[in-house]
Parts: sequence; C-alpha cells; structure tokens
Amino acid sequence: MTLETVAPFKEVVDEIMEAGGDAFRLCFQCGLCDAVCPWNRVRQFSMRKIIREATFGLTEIDGDDIWRCTTCGRCPDRCPRGVKQIEVSVSLRRVASEYEVFPASVRSARTARASLISEGNPLQGERQKRADWAKDLNVKPYDEGMEILYFVGCYFSYDPRMKKVARATVDNFNKAGVDFGILGNEENCCGESIRKTGSEKVFKQLARDNIKTFIDRGVKRLVVSSPHCLHTFKNEYPEFMVNFEVVHLSQYLMELVDADRLELSGEYVKKVTYHDPCYLGRHNDIYAAPRDLLQKIKGLELTEMVDSHQDSLCCGGGGGRIWMDTPQDERFSDLRLHQAKDTGAGVLATACPYCITNFEESRLNLELEEVLEVKDIAEIVNEVSQ
Ligand code: SF4
Repeated sequence: MTLETVAPFKEVVDEIMEAGGDAFRLCFQCGLCDAVCPWNRVRQFSMRKIIREATFGLTEIDGDDIWRCTTCGRCPDRCPRGVKQIEVSVSLRRVASEYEVFPASVRSARTARASLISEGNPLQGERQKRADWAKDLNVKPYDEGMEILYFVGCYFSYDPRMKKVARATVDNFNKAGVDFGILGNEENCCGESIRKTGSEKVFKQLARDNIKTFIDRGVKRLVVSSPHCLHTFKNEYPEFMVNFEVVHLSQYLMELVDADRLELSGEYVKKVTYHDPCYLGRHNDIYAAPRDLLQKIKGLELTEMVDSHQDSLCCGGGGGRIWMDTPQDERFSDLRLHQAKDTGAGVLATACPYCITNFEESRLNLELEEVLEVKDIAEIVNEVSQ
C-alpha cells in the first residue's frame, strides 16, 4: 500500500512541505544519508529511497520503513542538498497516523499515545502518582521566586531504574543548597517523542498544558534531565510564542561546581566512557559540559568510544522508537555496548533516559552485567559530591 492509495498526492506533498519546506525535492540521490544511517549497520534501510518515493507520493506506508528513523540527526548533518530527512519522515508518519495505518511493530506507540492523552505520560502511570518517587525526599512544590524548576520528566518519574537518577539529582541539589521545586502531578510529558511519531495534536495539547502551568506558576528557569525535554522546551515551544530559560542537568551541575556550591571531593577510581545522546549532542551541541564534569572527578579516567561527539552512535530510542518493537539483532544499543566494552571502560556514562533504558536492556541481553555498569552522570556525581 502506498501513501497515494490512502491520501491524495497533493495532501502528502503539502504535509511534507509544511514540515520542512521543499528541500526534499533537491535530493540528487547521492546516498550519503544511507552511508551514515545506523540502520545500515544492522539491516538494510534507505532514507534516500524514502525521499525519492515521497517526491512522487509513492512511499509505502503499511511497512515498517517510515517508522524506522530514530531522528538521530546523522543524515541531515551530512546531506549536501539540505534535505530535511527528519521532517520528511515525521510528516509521512503524520499522514499514516491520520489514516490509522500502523504496522504491528508500531502498535505499542499507540498505547503510549493513549496513556499520554489520559495520564500525561507514555508509561501508563497514574497522574496522581507522578511525584511518588520523591515522597520521602521532602521535595517542595515549585513556587515563584525559587532558583529553578526541576522538570523531572516521565521516565524519571515512573520508571524504576530512572527514579534512582531523579533521587540522585535531588541529592546533588540539596548538597549544593539549591532552592528548587517540582510540579508534581501538574507536570505533563514534554511531548517530544509523540510528535516524532506523527501525533501532532497530542503534542500540541501537552505543550499548551505545560506552557500554561509554567506561566501560572511564574517559572523562569528550568533544569531538565532529559535531552528530549531540553530540545522541545528550547527549540519547539517557541513555536507557541514563549521562551523559558532551559538548561540540561549536565550544564547545571557544572555551573554548581564552578560556583563552588557543589564540591566533588570523593574519588571515583574507574575508567569511564561517555555516550553522547543524539538530542544533547547533535541536536543541541552540548558535548563539553558532561565531559568537563566527569573530568573534574578525582581518579576518574575518561575514554572515548570509536563513534563519539558528532559521530555518536544512536541508542535507537529516539523518534518514538523507544516505544516500538525492535528485534534483538537489530538493536543499535547492543553495538554501542560492544563499543563501550572495547575501550576497556567499566562504566558507560550518559545523560538521557532513553539511552539508559536501552543500554540497561542490552547489558542484560548481552550478559555484560559483570563487565560494564551503566550510569547517568547525576549518579556518578552524587557518589563523589558533598
Ligand atoms: Fe538525497 Fe541528501 Fe540523502 Fe544525498 S544525502 S541521497 S541528497 S537526502
């Protein structure tokens, strides 16, 4: 089934042009996008073909291909013609979503969408329990005039592994004497990933609800743990004519250390390799802060993987793929764990809930529990700070 059979050609082209302009028509089929795409390390996939077919409204929409792009940002970085591959992929998904054409591997993303609509998070957690992770921590509700709003995010609020990172974050803030608060059950998912699956309406509703809460509560400065929240608040919410100052936790912890508010006095005598999350690195150019922070820690030896900085290998979780089924032999996170192990590091550090979720799963599947730890930088800092 092609897009043309369910949607008129003009509608498809209009949708793509609205999302990314008409640069997709400039594609001269060089194939550079396919050469850098991580999918081609695990199976065949052609963004070049999708762009070509989209030009003629001939994209097949009942298969998996239009849902593969993890929006990692490698191909737009390299394309000599300025084609906006991510925008094209998302707009094709928008048309497919509108006509309710979903392959089996994508159906779990619909469960996430339903949960976002009813509970404000994709994990089917009850809204009223959003702040349960902080119950015994004496965390205050955000009040106007506080230094920062800690926007916790969905995975850190509900996922058992990620709750540990949220708790470590709060410990770090308390040690530094930060006057901060959270929104509790008034916090909604930022909406980044659901937008990338084509559910524009759901994204807009989540964004409006969050923006209203930020304005009502007098929020000026937000600290986020997830690069996906960072990206959306910084680069997408301005579409609603608002601007809030948003900083990623790695930048904020560095700020606290530089201001002598957080002291990294303990030792961490381990070899650590750092994974750049796509939405922190390529999409937002934050490469230095997490590394600077790790390098401030006594005893810590920082080493780089084969693919790092701009060339970092995607974990496979962006673009809503975190909710979709990926066969084990097609998981980028498995490749990344092998890269981390090859450096001789005992710790794989990163700063994104999707990366940690995928890496922890790969660590179990590859039986690397004894060889490699997976840590958020907030956890490492918390082990040595006072
Ligand atoms: Fe087309 Fe750009 Fe891909 Fe080359 S890199 S095939 S111009 S989309």
